[in-house]
Amino acid sequence: MTRLGLFVGILVIVALAVLVGGVIDFERDEMQREIREFGPLAPVIFVLVSGVLGALFVPGPVFAILASALFGPLLGIPLGIAGSVVCALICREVGSHMGRDAAEEIAGARLGQLTTWLDRYGLLAVIGFRLMPAMPDAPLNYAAGLTRLKRWQIGLGTAIGVIPRTLGWGLVGATVGGGSAWLATAGGALIIGADAGGAIAAIFAARYLGISPRMLWAKLRGAPAEPHAHGPTGKGRWGAGGGSGGRLGRGKVGHMRIAIDGPAGAGKSTVARLVAERLEFTYLDTGAMYRCAALASLRGEAAPGEIEIDFAPDGEVLLAGEDVTLLIRSPEVTSLASKVAAEPSVRAGLVERQRELMAHGDWVAEGRDVGTVVVPDAELKVFLDADPLERAQRRAAQLGADVNEVLAQQNERDERDRTREAAPLKAADDAVILDTTGLSIEQVVDQIAALATSRTQG
Ligand code: C5P
Repeated sequence: MTRLGLFVGILVIVALAVLVGGVIDFERDEMQREIREFGPLAPVIFVLVSGVLGALFVPGPVFAILASALFGPLLGIPLGIAGSVVCALICREVGSHMGRDAAEEIAGARLGQLTTWLDRYGLLAVIGFRLMPAMPDAPLNYAAGLTRLKRWQIGLGTAIGVIPRTLGWGLVGATVGGGSAWLATAGGALIIGADAGGAIAAIFAARYLGISPRMLWAKLRGAPAEPHAHGPTGKGRWGAGGGSGGRLGRGKVGHMRIAIDGPAGAGKSTVARLVAERLEFTYLDTGAMYRCAALASLRGEAAPGEIEIDFAPDGEVLLAGEDVTLLIRSPEVTSLASKVAAEPSVRAGLVERQRELMAHGDWVAEGRDVGTVVVPDAELKVFLDADPLERAQRRAAQLGADVNEVLAQQNERDERDRTREAAPLKAADDAVILDTTGLSIEQVVDQIAALATSRTQG
């Protein structure tokens, strides 16, 4: 908002300068004289200087207007486009050297989403982002440095994507200091048309990827996934969504991350959902992400470490935009998930995404390594456990399956999760261990909610 305010402020000042007293006219003549002294090198110098200033966050339209005003629209518009390309390439080099943390300073929480999409869709993503209205250049430019994008993809994508707006601003620039009002109007119309066209194209592209416009907007703002703690289904039954857990009526308890880890069937998802609902936190099912990796691997679609996973506002799990909520619960996926989850490369990708999600806001995240690896500085860590037979009985009831079969598979998965090299299942040293054998869901939810409240009260 500050940047937007600043930009609008600059535009108003420029408009006043043009309207009251022809200030720009004077400056234009002066600048034209100065730039002519460089002879045939003048356009090259203009492009380089605008590239560097662009990298220092001077907005692109300033150069598009200037280029046209100084060199005329025929040369100025191509120069404006070239300036954007040079700027993008400079930022790419700087971005790739400054590393992720510094890039996050510029791009904010949207960095992860930008790099994911750039890596995934390459040239198309660069063009798409450039066409999109309200998409500031700097985050995109610096984020590109952290991706596998080739320089030519960044250059070509930028050149194509900035054409409509540079054309519009170029026409406006051509009229600075006296020109046809029609030309300026045409320029203005082109800019508005480009913005509207870019917005419509973005909505269609998002729909094609299975993302709602609201989600797209949230992602580009870098907002965490929408809350999706759900209401109860199957009151009081373990593993079936759980009951409402009584009405403590407690509101939000402040900024915090609650990590709930434990073996399969310990009641993590039931409990985590209800705790999230009660405290008005966002629920994160990290197991669903490993299940998505397993599904992607079964389909041979993408390297399991590079998949795009999202949670829709209603809690559906989206794999590259496709609703896979039910698919990932199949026995095949369940069994493969714990194998895929032992791959360090898969874990690295998903853990990074989980950290990104949990960077802001209040979360209840459940899994196997949330308290030990994902957010070892979580404000509250709980390790849920229960007698293996009881766990198997809960899951069998939930799935309508045979208890002995579930128990055998559960033992196999637990063994794999506990003994793997990468982030094995274990309680964090400072985790509260909660054995849920014989306890009701309500009792467990109450205990965790009470712990959360006491932690925030110090
Ligand atoms: O919790 P859920 O059964 O859905 O998780 C599926 C599998 O994903 C687990 O068996 C486990 O191997 C893996 N997983 C993991 N780390 C997490 C969450 C799940 O390794 N944080």
